[in-house]
Amino acid sequence: MSVITRDVVVVGAGPSGLTAAAELRKAGLSVAVLEARDRVGGRTWTGDIDGAMIEIGGQWLSPHHTAALELVAELGLETFSRYRDGRSVYLAADGVRHEFTGDVFPAPEATAKEIDRLLALLDELAAEVGAEEPWTHPNAEELDAIPFSIWLERQSDDEYARETVSFYVSGAMLTKPAHTFSTLQALQMAAAQSSFTALATDTFMLDKRVIGGMQQVSQRLAAGLGDDLHLNSPVRRIEWSDAGVTVFADGELRVRAERVVLAVPPNLYSTISFDPPMPRRRHQMYQHMSFGFVVKVHAVYSTPFWRAKGLSGTGFSDTDFVSEIYDNTNHGMDNGALVGFIAGAQADAVFEMSPEDRRRAILACLVKYLGPEAANPEVYYESDWGAEEWTRGAYGVSFDLGGLTRYGRDHREPLGPIHFACSDLAGHGFQHVDGAVRMGKRAAAAIVSQRTLV
Ligand SMILES: Cc1cc2nc3c(=O)[nH]c(=O)nc-3n(C[C@H](O)[C@H](O)[C@H](O)COP(=O)(O)OP(=O)(O)OC[C@H]3O[C@@H](n4cnc5c(N)ncnc54)[C@H](O)[C@@H]3O)c2cc1C
Repeated sequence: MSVITRDVVVVGAGPSGLTAAAELRKAGLSVAVLEARDRVGGRTWTGDIDGAMIEIGGQWLSPHHTAALELVAELGLETFSRYRDGRSVYLAADGVRHEFTGDVFPAPEATAKEIDRLLALLDELAAEVGAEEPWTHPNAEELDAIPFSIWLERQSDDEYARETVSFYVSGAMLTKPAHTFSTLQALQMAAAQSSFTALATDTFMLDKRVIGGMQQVSQRLAAGLGDDLHLNSPVRRIEWSDAGVTVFADGELRVRAERVVLAVPPNLYSTISFDPPMPRRRHQMYQHMSFGFVVKVHAVYSTPFWRAKGLSGTGFSDTDFVSEIYDNTNHGMDNGALVGFIAGAQADAVFEMSPEDRRRAILACLVKYLGPEAANPEVYYESDWGAEEWTRGAYGVSFDLGGLTRYGRDHREPLGPIHFACSDLAGHGFQHVDGAVRMGKRAAAAIVSQRTLV
């Protein structure tokens, strides 16, 4: 049995927990970090798959992600822009393949106008609702009681326009079907990324990547921790009182501290046993926060063959199950990499297939977008975060219908000595690395200010 005493113990070595640990150490506090996996980074994971560097998890930064961008620069990391020259591809529901430029999918003029009208309306509402406290909006209850799909049906008769606008938040962000989350949750997500139009603008949301991979953010934050970083140490139990906490991890590791920062996604709180148990409202609240699901597919080729055809590698489809693709070639490489996404119910469906059939079907979809060369990648990989014990979904956790107004005001609040940090609790940068950094800083600042007051 190893017993350690520190000022603060952080559970989870993703970007949020490691930001909290770094901030606490800057303030002169001693910190131990306990991580379940054999690596740091959480949902950011830069892997080597058959010799190719693959961003298995989070990778892109938008200009709105100022906290993450500042941290990246502070850590001495550099960013590069995603390749986006040339025409994009849109696979329409009628089976027709369109090539287009600009951010809006090709559509009949009336539908294009309707999409613009809906985006303008949603931008206005998102600005009113805001990212931080959407439950304070005068119409919050009403907006939180309407599934986004139903709200869209009430706004527009144009099915194509509805599907397109729905995709920006449903398939591309929350990765849940649009009937499972509220309009308030959709607006909060939009406000958290600056506007609804931002969600519809891939050149904004998917702007920059970190040279060498996003996981380096966590690796560099962890570098100073030395023996205070405990990998392969899943936390199983937390005893807590006003006097502090004792945290029990595998490997007979026990850490006593004044405070704990719980920096794991909220769907995993219930995997830890709390003594005394969390209060009733917490038990209830966390059951209404659930992961979406998306499969991230990687295909690496000897050349970026699409560029020679004047294509950017960007593509979208309403009906084919690989609903988005992008050029994901690493900085300075002359091979070509594509990344594609299969979200929500379609992600469930592809995992009903055998691995061979799934690969064949996914590559057939890439062929539809970019041509026959897409059929035979040198490296192929599927990021399946749903199967990861220490995550259980992708990209992030959001409230079910009605949850934001019922529980939102309490979901970031500390519970005695227990503080919470995770991108899924963030306002600004919600579900993104930026939100993880913000929440890590917030938890650390709260602990430092409480200690100053004592
Ligand atoms: C496929 C995918 C693509 C994404 N794309 C982007 C993107 O392009 N841009 C972007 O900004 N964001 C993206 N994200 C989201 C981003 O990765 C997350 O928002 C971010 O990693 C959250 O950081 P976190 O520290 O809050 O949580 P996590 O990264 O989930 O870290 C939590 C840590 O806690 C650990 N843990 C869990 N339970 C325990 C326990 N009991 N004991 C000890 N440790 C525990 C986990 O192992 C993990 O290391 C993506 C996510 C996925 C999955």
